Amino acid sequence: MDERPDPAAGTRTRHVLVAGIDGVRLDVLERLPARRLAEVRAAGFLAPILVDEDTPTMSGPCWATIATGVRVGKHGVWANDFSGNRLGQFPDFATRLTRGLGRRTYVAAAWDPLVLARDGGPLFAAPSRLLYVATEAHTAEAWEAADEAVTADAETVLRRDPVDAAFVYLGAVDETAHLHGCGPRYEAAIANADARLGRLLDAVRSRPGFGHEDWTFLVVTDHGHVDEGGHGGRSDLERTAWIACCGPGVPAGSAPRHAVRHVDVAPHVFHALGLEPDRHWTFEGTHLATVAVPAQFAHAAG
Ligand SMILES: [Zn+2]
Repeated sequence: MDERPDPAAGTRTRHVLVAGIDGVRLDVLERLPARRLAEVRAAGFLAPILVDEDTPTMSGPCWATIATGVRVGKHGVWANDFSGNRLGQFPDFATRLTRGLGRRTYVAAAWDPLVLARDGGPLFAAPSRLLYVATEAHTAEAWEAADEAVTADAETVLRRDPVDAAFVYLGAVDETAHLHGCGPRYEAAIANADARLGRLLDAVRSRPGFGHEDWTFLVVTDHGHVDEGGHGGRSDLERTAWIACCGPGVPAGSAPRHAVRHVDVAPHVFHALGLEPDRHWTFEGTHLATVAVPAQFAHAAG
């Protein structure tokens, strides 16, 4: 055993990337290769999330729960118009990290109320750095172009800049389902999002300091879709979302100890950064505690 002190001991830093991909049905995902998401799953786990009984299966409420760590009854985002929200009292994790804790955060999105003072937004109020890309039309193609611009900027930032926590939102999959249903075009949009996720992972891994950084990757969707495209109801197809996670405390061959909820994402961001959430924040979730999956079950897990 080599007893010399590790020169990097004590100097390792913790970081988190949350990739939000809107409206990806778990059953459709499971029949696609989604090779880059599979990397995250293999290094940790992928688990279903059931949108809770009180929450409309709509993007606004679900992303607000993901970003704030509290449910609709507290954050007050009940629809895709965020007006009347209480995000001032229950802010997003990036704003808490930057304003209260001095961490460097980055948020990139092309859906207005996530990052702009439009439609009752922004959900992400004051990250250190923010990218908004305007979609040029209500078409799947325009959303693909916007996601591409979001990904390109995120790649640049993640490759070289100081970032403690990032949230990158991809919206083309959801828009494609709304306009074209959950058929071949939807599957192609999921493949595109998977490739963009891969570029984000590659950007992180190419960081000059990556060898001294511990990264947690969270990939999450907000809700599902009915076959013809659309959501908002209480069917299993609409209520079933999912999350994939890997990083410190979430190793390969692990599974969540408890059923995962959207409200667990923000607490896990703080946990992954080695930070204890303030109890005054009244988080309604917990970080993602895991258990080891016996090897003979590991392949079928999730
Ligand atoms: Zn959505």
